[in-house]
This record gives sequence, C-alpha cells and structure tokens, in this order.
Amino acid sequence: MKIKEALQAHEEDIIKGIQRLVRIKSVREAPLPGAPFGKGCADALMEAMEMGRELGLRVKNVDNYAGHIEIGSGDEIVGVLNHLDVVAEGTGWDSDIPPYEAVYKDDCIFGRGTYDNKGPAVVSLYCLKVIDDLGIPLKRRVRLILGTDEETDWEDMAYYFEREPIPNLGFSPDMAYPICNWEKGMLTLRVDANKFEPGAIVSVNGGIARNSTPDSCVAVVDLSRVEDSDGLLARIDSLGGAVKSRDGDIITIFRAGKASHGSAPENGDNAVAHMLEILEPLYLGKDDSRSRFLSFARQKVGYETDGLSLGVKMEDEPSGKLTVNMGLFRLDDKGAYLTLDMRFPVTKSREDLTCAIHPLVKSCGLEVSQATYKAPLYVPPDSPLIAALSRAYERITGVKPGLFGMGGGTYARVLKNNGVAFGPGGYPGEPLIPPEKLRKGSTHSFNEFCVIPDFMKHARLCAEAIIELANC
Ligand SMILES: [Zn+2]
Repeated sequence: MKIKEALQAHEEDIIKGIQRLVRIKSVREAPLPGAPFGKGCADALMEAMEMGRELGLRVKNVDNYAGHIEIGSGDEIVGVLNHLDVVAEGTGWDSDIPPYEAVYKDDCIFGRGTYDNKGPAVVSLYCLKVIDDLGIPLKRRVRLILGTDEETDWEDMAYYFEREPIPNLGFSPDMAYPICNWEKGMLTLRVDANKFEPGAIVSVNGGIARNSTPDSCVAVVDLSRVEDSDGLLARIDSLGGAVKSRDGDIITIFRAGKASHGSAPENGDNAVAHMLEILEPLYLGKDDSRSRFLSFARQKVGYETDGLSLGVKMEDEPSGKLTVNMGLFRLDDKGAYLTLDMRFPVTKSREDLTCAIHPLVKSCGLEVSQATYKAPLYVPPDSPLIAALSRAYERITGVKPGLFGMGGGTYARVLKNNGVAFGPGGYPGEPLIPPEKLRKGSTHSFNEFCVIPDFMKHARLCAEAIIELANC
C-alpha cells in the first residue's frame, strides 16, 4: 500500500483523534501536583500519549511538561514538534459549535485547538503510524514531540530539553506552507519604577497582554493638584480623549487606540502613547520618580515602533526591521511598570538590544528586567534541511516552495537553527472547499476550525517531509 492510501485509510481515526483532544480544555492554569500547567494541559498530554500507545508506538511522558512518540532506530533524531495547549476560547462562537465539543460537519471540525495545534498533532501522529506500518526505511529515529505550554512561556520545552536530546533536525507544523525559514528574535523587557509621592496623576492603565498593542488606556487625575486644569481639559478634548467620569476633583480619562499583534505594532495605534501625550504637561521636566517613568515612556518609546529613541533601530537583509510594542502599562501610587516586546532581526543578538537599553533605563533612575526571551531562528536557503523539505514539497505539490519568515514564533526555534515551521496551512492550489462556504472564524479567535480534506493533503506532505529528513 502507498502512503497516500494508507493515510486515507486512517481518515476516520484522524477525525476521532482530533475530537478526543479538542474535548479536553487545555488552557494554561495554575500548577497542581503532577500538572505543571494545570489539569487540562496534563490531561491533553496524557490522552495523546495514550493514543500513541494504542497505535503500538513508543511513548514517553516527561512529567506532564511535554512528551514524545517515537518510531525507528538510529542515534540521530528527526523532531516533529506540535503543541497541545490552547489559548482561551474567548467569545463570539456560533451556538451550534461550542468551543470544546469538536463538532464535525461540512468536512470541518470546529473547536478551540482544531487548527492550532491539536489537529496537526494528530496528523503528525498518524504520519508516524503509517511510515512505521509500511516499514519505510529510516536512517534516523523520528520523534513527535508534544508540548503543553506553547501559547504562554515555553516552560515545557525548557524542562523537556533539560532531560531529552535536541533533535538533529526537524520541523514544526504550526504555521503555513511553503517553508518558514526565519523567525525574529523575541525579547520582552519590563521597566519598573517604585515609591511614588502623591501627585496629580493617580493611575494610568493600558493594555491586556505584552504581545498586543493596547486598544484602550484609562488614567485617573486629581485636578486639585493640576496647575492649569482648564488647559488639561481642553487638551484631553483636542487629543482624542474623553473624560468618562468626574467625582469632585478626580477625573477618569479614556483614550481609545487600535489593537494589533505584538509582532506588527506598526499596524496598531497604541492608546498608551496617546494618553502619555495628553498627560505630558503634568510630568515633563519634573524630577520625581513618577515623572521620570512617564517621561521615559513618552520620550524613549511613545508612538515609535522601530526602537529609534531606545537606540535599537536596526534591520537586516533576511528578516527586516526590529519592532517594539509597549503592550502593558500600569501606574498607581505604589509604582509603575511597562513592557517592551521587541522582535529583532535574525542576525542580531539579545545583547545588541540590552547594551543600548539597560544604560538608558538606568540613567532615568528606573529598573529594567527580562520578562521573556526567545532566540531568533534562521536557516539559510541553501542548507540541506531546506533542500530536503523542498524535495518533499515539490514531489507532492508539483510546485517549487518559496521561503518566508515572520516576527512570531513556533517550536521550530528550539531546534537551534536545525528546524523550521512547515505547514499545515497555505497548501498550494485551489482549496477543496471554497472560502465563501466556510464559516467566519479563525485561530486564537472564535469559530476556530480545521478542514479535513486540507489536513489529508497536509498529511501526505508531512509524511513525505519526515521520510526525507530521516534519510537525507
Ligand atoms: Zn500554535
């Protein structure tokens, strides 16, 4: 039997497998004994391990952080990396497709994680099963590595790779075809100030996540401490803000912005930057700790998304410009902090950023610390890995694959420049189901779904890629 037919014979199993995993809500929660990211994440991993066992494959669960399912022999390892955790379901789902019921209809499965990334994980699993059953020769072992903290902090990968070898080469089906051969470096810094005396600005709050652009900002101001309160009220008006409420001398100011993903802040409109401009007369040129913090935020970041005033404006040929997103901003009478989510070019290093920013922050009398860091990924176009994936892609699709890159990140990064993101979206050619027949919805949003005929095409490519990498 050929690979295509063998995979097709498992279509029903793939659908059922996706449903089994999607019905376990695996959003990261507080740790429990034996469940480092909460019960749901641990349950999803145990279920996937059980599925591997049922198929007669070797499985290993590394303390419910991550696990692997393996076929073949040999010292070297090909890694296929998927994740079983999901982002929260949010709102807006159609009532006939609840997020954790994994309803199968119209050739689609609907639910949180169907596409990102439980569906592709199940496809990877059946690729291993089919390759093993057909006895296809492999020079390297093949490991499907399943993590449970991809959407948050990647603590799963840190723990797993302290105990298990990093694969010699591999890919992560968690993006789109053709081949994603670079991912910018990601460094998030947190800037802190503390110990404030009472002042005119009582509080400022903007943003809900480090990796998105704040679409609103709220500030509370004590007008009895403002020299020119009429001037301030006029300024709020002329700069697009609004006084939402007033209680004696205490006013609450609102300013809207536009949200955007943290990897593309230039597409958003940072509400905090607008608020900093509105409030400028209350802090600029003053030397207390609160004013120094606000001045830093306004003058060194403000509306800029290219890092110019932070001294980190940079770009390179493969991957383009550095971006900065001021995602979280909190200030009250106890202190303040803000976060800077920076995506930097692949030929640059974390030190290129910290060497510029740390002295600058310290010179303003503020503290700086690292919140998150992921090294950049770059696999040159002429590498054997790209050549092997290209052969697989061309054999199945008849088309030469292009290369692309992004500011976001996949598990491919953990392979230390020996892995890339490859699939499952963006398969070339006409979609089997025309887009207008699909429901409105998407990954990380409402009505997430996967299209089973598309996944069966992806399965062929995924299997071919595994065989190429195991023998190249
Ligand atoms: Zn994902």
